[in-house]
Parts: sequence; structure tokens; C-alpha cells
Amino acid sequence: MIVVENLHKHFGGFHAVDGASLEIKAGTITGLIGPNGAGKTTLFNVIAGRLPPTSGRVLMNGEDITGLPPHELFHKGLLRTFQIAHEFSSMTVRENLMMVPADQTGESIWSSWFHRGAIREQEKALLDKADEVLDFLTIDHLRDEKAGNLSGGQKKLLELGRTMMVDARIVFLDEVGAGVNRTLLNTIGDAIVRLNKERGYTFCMIEHDMDFIKRLCDPVIVMAEGKVLAEGSADAIMANEQVIEAYLGT
Ligand code: ADP
Repeated sequence: MIVVENLHKHFGGFHAVDGASLEIKAGTITGLIGPNGAGKTTLFNVIAGRLPPTSGRVLMNGEDITGLPPHELFHKGLLRTFQIAHEFSSMTVRENLMMVPADQTGESIWSSWFHRGAIREQEKALLDKADEVLDFLTIDHLRDEKAGNLSGGQKKLLELGRTMMVDARIVFLDEVGAGVNRTLLNTIGDAIVRLNKERGYTFCMIEHDMDFIKRLCDPVIVMAEGKVLAEGSADAIMANEQVIEAYLGT
């Protein structure tokens, strides 16, 4: 689904991504791991259109998507979430979900003003969709809670929910498990697996928690020093000498 070809991203003389090539197969939950500073987040930022690459290509289903801005990638079903959830804290959980499509498509408030009848219809459809998402994520009870009052893990679930408001095909998750308690981590893990199995989502996730990776991801890609060091099942990766060395070296 996604092919990254010999990608480089340099910051001045520093090669954060230094000739990374990898493939994310449709239907997988692919893990991306590696020591701090390996270039994982930079790679995500380039794929998701937040940073232009220095050189190299990103293909989605054979189409060159290198350097496309996030909103165009969004229309192709490529989304990313952030390590720090970007919720609108004074709005309710349900309102946060409803913000996604209009916000992301760049629809202006003025065009909404001129099409109020259509907007009401749209709003009803959005409400229904938001309720369906809350139900799927088993967080209906948080519907009217202000997003700012959610715990870190609940915010991560909300981020995941926002990807469900549109027809995502591939979602890049940046440390969705970081700082989340075990119970919520299980809920998040279950939601990811169900989105993958029942809705055909492909995931690529940066993660540090190896238990979480082992439970969810196959394959796992390891990055070190801006390059892909290894790829395989979680077990194979954890037994790989080069991988162990890369972690110990930091
Ligand atoms: P990881 O996500 O694997 O921890 P990052 O992609 O965040 O790694 O960072 C890779 C390297 O690139 C780090 O050494 C980081 O300091 C550097 N880096 C990341 N973004 C920038 C930037 N905007 N300017 C300069 N250096 C950066």
C-alpha cells in the first residue's frame, strides 16, 4: 500500500532519515520501532506531508504521493495521529469528532453560512456518525465530557475516533500507547485490532512498548540512524543481534 523508496531527510548537515526504504502492506498493523533519534517521527512527518523530503519517493498504491500536503493525503485516506493528542479542549468529545471532516477538508465557515439547509442535513449525518464511533470505541459515556477533562489514554482513543469520522485507509499512529494505563491500553489495542479486521484499516505505528507491539504488530520494522535495520515478526526482531546492539548503543 505504501512504498518508501530511498528516502532522505536532512536538517542542515544532519541526516535524520538517511536512505530509508520500506513497504507497508495493505491489511497489516506494521510496527515501527528503533532507538530514540532513529528518524521514525521524521519519516512519519515526511510520509504524512508535514515535511518535504530531501530526496526519495513515497508511493501509495503505486501513485507518487511524495510531498503532497496533509489535506490531499487525507482525501486519499492517509491520516496520522500525534504523540500529543490535538483535541479541542473546551469542546465535548462528540463535538470534537464532528469537527474533523469540515476542519480537515478546509471547508470555510462562509460557504457553510450560504448552505444552511444542506448543513443541517450534514450535521445530522455527522451526529449519527459520531455516536456510532463513540459506541465502537466503547466511550459513549464520555460523549458530553469536555475533551480537556479526558485522561491521556482517553484522548488517544478520541484521536483514533477522529480517524473513523472519515474513510481512513491507512493510519499512522505516533506512540498511541505512551503514558496510557494498562486498562486503557487494552481498549486502544482492541480498537486498533477491530478497525483492522472489521473495517480494513491498515496501520503503521511508532511504539516503544514491546508487549503492545508484540500483541498487535506483524511485521515490525526497525529503524536505526535513519535507515531500516531489520524487518520481521516481533519475536524475530527481539532476538535479532543487530537490533539488540542498536538499542544498547544508545
Ligand atoms: P525518533 O522519532 O526515532 O526518536 P526523530 O525523527 O524524532 O527520531 O529524530 C531523528 C533525529 O533528527 C534526531 O536526532 C532529532 O534531533 C533530529 N531532528 C528531528 N527534527 C529536527 C528538526 N526539525 N531540525 C533538526 N533536527 C531534527
